[in-house]
Amino acid sequence: MSTTALTGIGLLVTHDAELGEIRDAALVIDEDRIVWIGASADVPDADDGTDLDGRCVIPGFVDSHTHVIFAGDRAPEFEARMSGQPYTAGGIHSTVAATRAASDDELTGHAAGLIAEMLAAGTTTTEIKTGYGLSTVDEQRSAQVAARLSDDVTFLGAHVVPAEYADRPDDYVALVSGPMLDACAPYCRWIDVFCDRGAFDVDQARAILAAGSARGLGLRVHANQFAHGAGVQLAVELGAASADHCTHLSDTDVEALAGSTTVATLLPGAEFSTRSPYPDARRLIDAGATVALATDCNPGSSYTSNMAFCIALAVREMNMTPAEALWAATAGGARALRRDDVGVIALGSRADLVALQATSPVHLAYRPGVPLIAATWKGGQPITA
Ligand SMILES: [Zn+2]
Repeated sequence: MSTTALTGIGLLVTHDAELGEIRDAALVIDEDRIVWIGASADVPDADDGTDLDGRCVIPGFVDSHTHVIFAGDRAPEFEARMSGQPYTAGGIHSTVAATRAASDDELTGHAAGLIAEMLAAGTTTTEIKTGYGLSTVDEQRSAQVAARLSDDVTFLGAHVVPAEYADRPDDYVALVSGPMLDACAPYCRWIDVFCDRGAFDVDQARAILAAGSARGLGLRVHANQFAHGAGVQLAVELGAASADHCTHLSDTDVEALAGSTTVATLLPGAEFSTRSPYPDARRLIDAGATVALATDCNPGSSYTSNMAFCIALAVREMNMTPAEALWAATAGGARALRRDDVGVIALGSRADLVALQATSPVHLAYRPGVPLIAATWKGGQPITA
């Protein structure tokens, strides 16, 4: 047993309802947990300590939506899109081909590199989706690689219908709901379906999610990114933990989210990278919905791993206050993953912490693009100093 005291915290943002924010704070870590929080002047003895010299400390970011198991990149597609061509789901097929051709070691090394990039930028919890294998063997390999890197692995065999099933999509739905699900479920906590124009329709999505639920997986839905549709309503009806994207919402969709435990997870990196209109976070929050922010890190539509960048976009482009955006990127992400041990700084929570090179978390949006992560602890272990 070894304890570490962090003292000299100018402002501690806990996101714990009882504490909120504490000025001139300290906390004590025992192994991987937080065991004491209070005023710096009152800190108890610990085996070792670090003086943070007035820096702000926040919970580590919780990125509840990423697609980091893939090979190759799509910079030419991005360049073409920025030259005026529209974004469609079709570009996924080039990543599927590259992912199928990659070895397990190549997929693991590439994903681990992205996770390390996220950790250095303050993200201490990362959900990881499959979805670039789209065959039973390649989806299972993707799930196995993801399970080495995260406790929150999501089976997304229903990302897009692969080219070899283009003229018989219902056969692919049967594969995803049957043998592919059976092969992947042991490595996964969640199942997700891309329910949108050009992807899976609501009946197909319902069948796939029901099969996942019957296997004990929690539900997530890619919903309403490209168009108004039934994805959000389906997510709420089935009690999904999260409806992700939520870019095109009717009043009925907003009311359904507000009256449910389904988190609206907004992914502004996707709108940024596809030069598309942003979702209206203000409308969701004002209606009473729970909002999370995530990066959607993927090679096609949002190749950023940086949560601070998404916070800046949310504040500038989606009318969130800096405090709302920070909550959504930490506690909101934890809600979207139905976890209460991360995303907050509370007694007994995981010691997943970020010290900012700033005295206020407002700087995350106020100084966009500036590296402000002075130090990160994951499970009580320092990542950078
Ligand atoms: Zn996604």
